Amino acid sequence: MATNSCDVVVIGLGPGGEAAAAELARAGLEVVGIDERLVGGECPYFGCIPSKMIIRAANLLADGRRIDDVAGTAEVHPDWTPVHARIRDEATDDWDDAVAVKRLEEAGARFVRGHGRLAGPRRVEVGGEVFEATRGILLNTGTRPATPPIDGLGDTPFWTNRDVLRTDVLPASLGVVGGGPIGAELAQGIARFGVQVTVLEVGPHLLGPVEPEAGMLVADVFGDEGIQVLTGVTISSVSHAQGRFTVVVDEQELTFEKLLVAAGRTPNLDDLGLETVGLDPSARSIEVDDRMRAGDGLWAIGDITGHGAFTHMSVYESRIAVASILGQDGPAADYRAVPHVTFTDPEVGGVGMTEKQARDRGLNVRVGTIDLATSTRGWIAQARGLVKLVEDADRGVLVGANVVGPAGGEILAMLTTAVHAEVPTSTLGSMIYAYPTLHRAVSQAVEALA
Ligand SMILES: Cc1cc2nc3c(=O)[nH]c(=O)nc-3n(C[C@H](O)[C@H](O)[C@H](O)COP(=O)(O)OP(=O)(O)OC[C@H]3O[C@@H](n4cnc5c(N)ncnc54)[C@H](O)[C@@H]3O)c2cc1C
Repeated sequence: MATNSCDVVVIGLGPGGEAAAAELARAGLEVVGIDERLVGGECPYFGCIPSKMIIRAANLLADGRRIDDVAGTAEVHPDWTPVHARIRDEATDDWDDAVAVKRLEEAGARFVRGHGRLAGPRRVEVGGEVFEATRGILLNTGTRPATPPIDGLGDTPFWTNRDVLRTDVLPASLGVVGGGPIGAELAQGIARFGVQVTVLEVGPHLLGPVEPEAGMLVADVFGDEGIQVLTGVTISSVSHAQGRFTVVVDEQELTFEKLLVAAGRTPNLDDLGLETVGLDPSARSIEVDDRMRAGDGLWAIGDITGHGAFTHMSVYESRIAVASILGQDGPAADYRAVPHVTFTDPEVGGVGMTEKQARDRGLNVRVGTIDLATSTRGWIAQARGLVKLVEDADRGVLVGANVVGPAGGEILAMLTTAVHAEVPTSTLGSMIYAYPTLHRAVSQAVEALA
């Protein structure tokens, strides 16, 4: 095998890896970036961006349906064609990464398409080549859709996020296995185009680790929109015959034209040669220090570090890893105020700890919860939502918050600042909030802390 030398090899070019490879090359290092699929990773082609294009279109449909009784009358005729066209043409260039590859090469990095594998410290094999990385290796291999161990599922042509975001035709009915953020966003987005959608969630409520109130409120809204939500279910088998899926749920048979499985993600660590550097290929994540170091000459960022499977986390950790690789000082990783948004309607934003997490840590917790409809703007907008704050009462600072409502992800900004900067709750209680905004409900939630 031909052996080449370089400064840094980046295996996997998700959002953070792509940014790091370009940044390190611009800093004058000789960088080789490797990806077996598309430069940019899941987010631009099969994740954040195309799913938010569906949601943008679906929310317009929902707004159209809300015109009656408020502003006249409207007839809404959903059409998937422009949504698919926009994803294909504007978001993904028909799932072609030529522009991203060019951008990377223009930054000065070399791009190799193929499956990269560690072959000992500072050594990577890809195709027929070996790269010796004198400074080290950065891993950003991300995740792939998980296949839950349900009898028969693996033998059926089920959809994952990668299929549903490419489809040019919608089915008449869709079963969604998994009511986490990905499943919930896609379920509602697609239902608003007239598809009969059923969400099957094994956990007690939608949206997994957010505050239960938030997940239950979203389930309630889904119910009002005609989306069937079944929580706490046991799915015992899946089969496919004559163009239909049959799912046995709590001994009841449900049938769907298509089945979307959005039940977690599998980290791409199993075929990465981790054992050649003393790490466990069967682990769920790679342990890193606060400079993203996983070992001597080895860094890891993004979903595989287990700090939150979000694009903003991948990019955040990328900046820290780049500084570390370049031997520069800079802020260390700090995960106290990790924000996350599920772009259902209403949106669900969260930051820091939930009430349960704070109590489990033994904190002296005070909680303030407000129904968004009791705020003036929420009432005017006939909004469904809530603000829930979690305070460490001993220190008088917020350690967590959830916001559900229109623009919940935007209202979250001030609460992320509060948790990150440890703004005293007394300061949040004495500042001025513009009237009549949705974020003014935060002041009511502060007052409600008890
Ligand atoms: C439907 C959906 C919606 C989402 N919406 C949001 C959202 O709204 N906001 C948000 O913050 N996040 C969202 N996410 C999550 C987000 O997509 C990921 O957190 C993000 O892509 C960061 O992942 P990453 O950097 O770890 O790597 P990834 O994006 O997973 O990319 C990893 C790359 O590594 C490559 N690779 C893997 N193994 C190898 C190997 N051995 N050799 C070569 N290449 C390899 C892969 O081909 C891939 O290109 C969503 C995800 C999905 C599925």
